[in-house]
Amino acid sequence: MPVFSAKNPDHSDLRLDTTLTDQPMPIQKDHIREALSTVLLPTGEDLVSADAVLNIAVCDEHASVRISMTNDAHTPQPPKETLTKLGAVIDSAVRAQAKEVGIDNLTLIIDFVDHAGQVLMKLNSNHKAAPEQTKTPGAPNAQNAATGVPGVKHIIAVGAGKGGVGKSTVAVNLAIGLARKGHSVGILDGDIYGPSLPTMLGLANLDQVVIESNMMPFLVHDIKAITMGKLVETDKPLIWRGPMAHGAFHQLIERTQWGELDYLIIDLPPGTGDVPLTLAQTVQLAGAVVVCTPQRVAQDDAVRAVNMFKSLGVETLGVVENMSYFIGDDGKEYDIFGRGGAQHMAQRLNLPFLGAIPITMALRENSDNGTPSNNFDSATAGGDQLPAALEAMTNQIIAQVTLATMQQGQTKPTLTIS
Ligand code: ADP
Repeated sequence: MPVFSAKNPDHSDLRLDTTLTDQPMPIQKDHIREALSTVLLPTGEDLVSADAVLNIAVCDEHASVRISMTNDAHTPQPPKETLTKLGAVIDSAVRAQAKEVGIDNLTLIIDFVDHAGQVLMKLNSNHKAAPEQTKTPGAPNAQNAATGVPGVKHIIAVGAGKGGVGKSTVAVNLAIGLARKGHSVGILDGDIYGPSLPTMLGLANLDQVVIESNMMPFLVHDIKAITMGKLVETDKPLIWRGPMAHGAFHQLIERTQWGELDYLIIDLPPGTGDVPLTLAQTVQLAGAVVVCTPQRVAQDDAVRAVNMFKSLGVETLGVVENMSYFIGDDGKEYDIFGRGGAQHMAQRLNLPFLGAIPITMALRENSDNGTPSNNFDSATAGGDQLPAALEAMTNQIIAQVTLATMQQGQTKPTLTIS
């Protein structure tokens, strides 16, 4: 096993004067590069002079580095144990450098890639002040033993393998369904790349209130809501690279004054990107709801989402089949996309099925008009089927959350690397 070591770094030239402010100074790429140049390879070269550092990105208290140990297809890749060991040395070198500029809780993502840029291993660590040595996927944070968000009892993520399957629609209607049962509910639009909540909840004419750098959630339809869509210009594309996405999402979670909540619903971006990873590291989730349409191609994407949650140590509470069937004006049901496809997928994966939501004009209109409460009243929902389907879904999810919470009370995840 090769031995990696760190030079004894003298950071005196980089030490910044922090006497004027209690705020940590932002960490710079050069700080990270300096730290990486203290990591020695078995050849005697350091990571920087060996041209192993392909990329460094920093944003506030988040940093990511991309390392390649080979630059052609013929050189064999180091074994995983070697990369893990090297990752630990990099982690402590970078963290020591971050401390020099007053950052104690740096989040560091280390990607080991091959010569073609394909990720071989991703290491992720966040040494936030907490009783644990490392933050672990799915592990609670010190603020609140249950969820990591003060005052919040259960956190449910709503995810999907791809966009357009109705993930936000399900998240919004789940939140309202829970509130209608008397629970206090918040919803966080974690889809920072394409936030839908401003439209779906009708937030257009409301302004975000910020008090002492804490965001006050909007109070609409008897739920509390927060969305990146009210913090940025909505018609501009939101391009977040890994660490920026991490930072933006982190702030939404940690800087919102939720008060007491029974349930916090998090509408995740589609696919398997950085945000779910950040989420799993930041809070203790009751679990994730995966939304899928019945078609085969949608199922394949949903399976990927389920596997992602698994690898993050997050339990999948079950699958919702959205756009399961169409209800025409004649009240008849039409199986446009192959009703039951997502249900079968859930069975195959041994996951609970959480309900089938029909395609209805009313659901689409109420989403576009920001009037989702109308989906729960047969007079404004185009009949009884939609309210009944939403009610059944909400009940199923409450049952699964209760079960998952009981099980989590017995076992605690211990993963440290994903
Ligand atoms: P995602 O979050 O997966 O990208 P959305 O929830 O934004 O998807 O839904 C995409 C579009 O489809 C929205 O216009 C929404 O109103 C519509 N939609 C979603 N589910 C249904 C449904 N069951 N019936 C009718 N329209 C729906």
